[in-house]
Amino acid sequence: MRPDLFEAPDYYQLDDLFSDEHLLVRDAARQWVKRDVSPIIEEYAQKAEFPKQILKGLAEIGAFGPYIPEEYGGAGLDQISYGLIMQEIERGDSGVRSTASVQSSLVMYPIFTYGTEEQRKKYLPKLATGELMGCFGLTEPDHGSNPGGMVTNFKDKGDHFLLNGAKLWISNSPFADIAVVWAKNEEGRIHGLLVERGMEGFSTPETHNKWSLRASATGELIFDNVKIPKENILPGKSGLGAPLGCLDSARYGIAWGAIGAAMDCYDTALRYAKERVQFGKPIAATQLQQKKLAEMITEITKAQLLAFRLGQLKNEGKATTAQISMAKRNNVEMAITIAREARQVLGGMGITGEYSIMRHMMNLESVLTYEGTHDIHLLITGADITGHQAFK
Ligand SMILES: Cc1cc2nc3c(=O)[nH]c(=O)nc-3n(C[C@H](O)[C@H](O)[C@H](O)COP(=O)(O)OP(=O)(O)OC[C@H]3O[C@@H](n4cnc5c(N)ncnc54)[C@H](O)[C@@H]3O)c2cc1C
Repeated sequence: MRPDLFEAPDYYQLDDLFSDEHLLVRDAARQWVKRDVSPIIEEYAQKAEFPKQILKGLAEIGAFGPYIPEEYGGAGLDQISYGLIMQEIERGDSGVRSTASVQSSLVMYPIFTYGTEEQRKKYLPKLATGELMGCFGLTEPDHGSNPGGMVTNFKDKGDHFLLNGAKLWISNSPFADIAVVWAKNEEGRIHGLLVERGMEGFSTPETHNKWSLRASATGELIFDNVKIPKENILPGKSGLGAPLGCLDSARYGIAWGAIGAAMDCYDTALRYAKERVQFGKPIAATQLQQKKLAEMITEITKAQLLAFRLGQLKNEGKATTAQISMAKRNNVEMAITIAREARQVLGGMGITGEYSIMRHMMNLESVLTYEGTHDIHLLITGADITGHQAFK
């Protein structure tokens, strides 16, 4: 892959709206991605392997639990800083951002929000440093968009719970030390359980042959009569609202992350268009390529403003599930459209690993689908504005 020459677009001077802390956090993440992610990521994506050596760096830039209080090892930052970190990481690769999102919003968040004080103290500091890695098991082979139909279940056996079932499409599962698993009790109520690697009957086979998020490890979680100590249940919240609360936090991060992927595609296409000469002039001087680039920067700017306002609402504790859903859907679609257009600007070179665009484009296919598909997010907005839920 070529040297990373990324220059971040800021067409509406958003930097003026960020605090010194936001800029400091963002720039540290930006520099780290340039130094430690860009030079290696193409190779790891090509060989479909997660680059484990970057875990320490991810922890150092505050990507594991950015908004978790410092007393539990988190960075104690606000929601806009969290968003900016996700943006910068996904500028490098959506798979790397996925690992950070899962660790922060789908593992640390539920332990912090629904866990006991003992669980927080036991797990959060080690998750913040990357000494422990986690995964989140909600999706099942027969229950994706409809997680409430899950069949994974646990029974009360007096001094322990007995867990049975299977989860599919689980990011980080092949190497995770702990899994936050959502399962139904005998009354059919959903609870979160902390399942640890090494528990008898628990296995995590890897899913191979993905054309998307190749630098992120994805796998299954299989529970065959796994004995779960009773202290491993998350007591703070039960019902489908508990995992959905985690998804709100992760989707918020994705709304920012997708901007990073789009910025990288736009910046690459702009630089290429200025340098590439055809018919005796740079292709950037042609009307058709200018249309593409002008539309890209317009859409990125709109997405940045959407994310920034959502960040303010989130900081004030006012962001609704439907508002977060809209930003996730809009910004991911924006990014994948830009990736497809940017690929065309590069002509044949756009399909090679010399440039990041094709990798972003393929990654974004997963981002469009996970954490609620594009369709489901349309239906969430539809339900919110009409009062009629069309997906049930
Ligand atoms: C790389 C990757 C990583 C992932 N990581 C995780 C993870 O860490 N943890 C986890 O729990 N899950 C994870 N997922 C799972 C992801 O959240 C699901 O794939 C997603 O929710 C969609 O479920 P599904 O794939 O079963 O598709 P389905 O639900 O079967 O949907 C298939 C199609 O039908 C459409 N559809 C479904 N219902 C309706 C409806 N009512 N009306 C209209 N259209 C509908 C969908 O929009 C979609 O287009 C991951 C997925 C991928 C690809």
